[in-house]
Amino acid sequence: MDLGIRGRTALVCAASKGLGRACAEALAAEGVNLVLTARRSDLLEQVAASIRQKFSVTVAAASGDITTEAGRAAALSACPRPDILVNNAGGPPVGDWHSFEREQWLAAADSNMVAAIMMIRAVIDGMAERKFGRIINITSAMVKQPHAALSLSVAARIGLTGFTKAIAAQYVGANVTINSLLPEQFETDRLRSNIQKLTAKSGRTLDEEVAASAASSPAKRMGRVEEFGAVCAFYCSAHAGYLTGQNVMLDGGRYPAVF
Ligand code: NAP
Repeated sequence: MDLGIRGRTALVCAASKGLGRACAEALAAEGVNLVLTARRSDLLEQVAASIRQKFSVTVAAASGDITTEAGRAAALSACPRPDILVNNAGGPPVGDWHSFEREQWLAAADSNMVAAIMMIRAVIDGMAERKFGRIINITSAMVKQPHAALSLSVAARIGLTGFTKAIAAQYVGANVTINSLLPEQFETDRLRSNIQKLTAKSGRTLDEEVAASAASSPAKRMGRVEEFGAVCAFYCSAHAGYLTGQNVMLDGGRYPAVF
């Protein structure tokens, strides 16, 4: 299927690895030009060069911390009029919620709620004027199926989810959609590091813990980042203009409820 977005421009945040990079590659495969962000500029430049070469699209790298004003300004200066925005940032620490202090709750809210809201505010009215816009928030399956050890992530991302739903109906009439993708157990650096922290005292190796975690999934495996990227590209497609305010679980069937 031709997704109908060739020649569009996407700003993909936190995209030098993992899910963000997979979204960038899936969009590039559809002929979308990219501006990518991440904090480490050397890796980001390498990834930009690799995508440019593989897919023959333009790819610019705007390094910076997307959870800061300066990082967002750098991203928006490199890409002031995106057709597609993928909001993403690193997740907050895992651990016992009793131990987190006020500063950590505020930092999580800043990183995983406010940063995305600021990016949306900066670009969405321009998208509406141009009558095309696709905004994706990478959140987490924890939004629908919370886990105490990920309480910082849950609390912040629920806020973004509510905000997104609140404004989605204001923009769909201008062909601008906002949807969230909710990953669980995609094998990335972040997932391996979380498993390591949560199972540090188990006596098993990290590879054994990752294998056990995969085996506990109804899918009997981890998600592949390419699968995530492909869903992102479809939600950014010309065909998805009647689909907004949704929270799409990509969890290998783990979520147990109907809705
Ligand atoms: P990952 O493989 O560790 O990749 C994270 C990417 O984000 C890297 O490119 C990193 O580059 C960049 N990044 C991190 N913090 C940033 C910041 N403040 N500003 C700009 N770029 C930043 O992680 P992932 O698994 O793809 O996770 C992406 C998001 O999905 C996270 O919020 C994570 O919590 C969430 N999530 C993932 C899963 C999963 O199954 N993997 C499940 C639930 C939720 P730099 O370090 O150079 O900045």
